[in-house]
Amino acid sequence: MLSEKEKKVVREIDESREEIVELLRDFIGYKTISPRPQLDIDRSEHRDFTALACEILEELGFELDVWEVDPQKLENFPGSGVEPDKDLSDMPVVVGTRESSGDAKSLILNGHYDVVPAGKRKNWNHDPYGGEVVDDKVFGRGACDMKGGIVAMLKAIEFVERVGIDFDGDLTVELVPDEESGSMGTLSCCQRGYEADAAIIPEPTDMENILLAMRGNQCGSITVFGRAGHADNPQPHWRSGGAVNAITKSAKIIDCLKELEEDWRDRPDKKHRLLPSDTIVPTIIEGGDWLIKYPEEVEIEFDANFIGTENPREEIEEKVMTVAETDPWMKENPPEIEFYPWLYGAEVSEDEELVKTAKSVIRELFDTELKPTGTGSLTDAIHLINYSEIPTISVGPSHTGAHETNEYIEIEELIKTTKILALMVLRWCVFSQ
Ligand SMILES: [Zn+2]
Repeated sequence: MLSEKEKKVVREIDESREEIVELLRDFIGYKTISPRPQLDIDRSEHRDFTALACEILEELGFELDVWEVDPQKLENFPGSGVEPDKDLSDMPVVVGTRESSGDAKSLILNGHYDVVPAGKRKNWNHDPYGGEVVDDKVFGRGACDMKGGIVAMLKAIEFVERVGIDFDGDLTVELVPDEESGSMGTLSCCQRGYEADAAIIPEPTDMENILLAMRGNQCGSITVFGRAGHADNPQPHWRSGGAVNAITKSAKIIDCLKELEEDWRDRPDKKHRLLPSDTIVPTIIEGGDWLIKYPEEVEIEFDANFIGTENPREEIEEKVMTVAETDPWMKENPPEIEFYPWLYGAEVSEDEELVKTAKSVIRELFDTELKPTGTGSLTDAIHLINYSEIPTISVGPSHTGAHETNEYIEIEELIKTTKILALMVLRWCVFSQ
């Protein structure tokens, strides 16, 4: 049963739909694209977005801590995913804290403001940064992943305040860059010492799911070698100096990655109640430099995801080298494997107090039973769970178009997420309901 105060907050949110939508439309307007070395991004967008977020947090009575992440200064350990040379300048982390006089439980609300690039504009039916409202949906990059979640966080706090409720527990809001490409924003918050009894990241979870487990990630590259030669001319055996086609050789390596993935699918140690088994997917391939020439080199980049904190890199290496051994050329000219910085997976127990609170809130609000779920990829929760040992969950809107064209959020789900967060904050940080 919702208390009178809770009902008041819910009513307030229902009556304020428009201002919630307007804030999201504003947020979508900032092209806060996640940093990757090959992307030329306009960092003034990140600066302007965070300046606006700071204003909002200050109005809500938060003390601000704003800094730029220097990856060189982050503690770099296995599974941290730290990329020391990445440039995170001009895309600050914003943390707002509000200490209360009471000693109720403390809570972190975390959200990433970086978004993946919009991709080809011609494939969008709406301006990716226009925040257009059509058929009760707000369209744009980041609508559901996860500027919608950030709006819900900020508005949830505002509405609890607006009905005159005092907090008895400390509240921290973390707005971070780099989630989509490395998670160093949240890692930096953890290393700066921000702690709480629990944390919520309103990432999209299709409303009826509560995200409790995620896989770790290891990306890397395999370079396969050949030998140049005129493609129109017959070639002698390679031992006699003939050309070797690196593309043909790389096909064997690609096949063996598929075999490895199939092997993982059937192995008992790769089974998990909430997660798919480990995967390895070749995602980028580059090779050859002239139409009439045997290619000398092929680079295959891959994306591997795995359960828990045990990185399968040795298995990957062993598999590739075993296959290479069976090919006389590759045996003498073995492929080279490079593993990029990796991130561990994480899991939260269903028995955690926060999970129970989320379940009761959603049952009472919408008469829905939350289903525990896992994700094949990962979120910033990994650092909150592993590094700071804070039980962290995600509950949020649908994934509609996340990382695809025509991303949107249903306004109804934006409002529902705001209600969920408002009640979670109330039940976690306020004694008298
Ligand atoms: Zn996200």
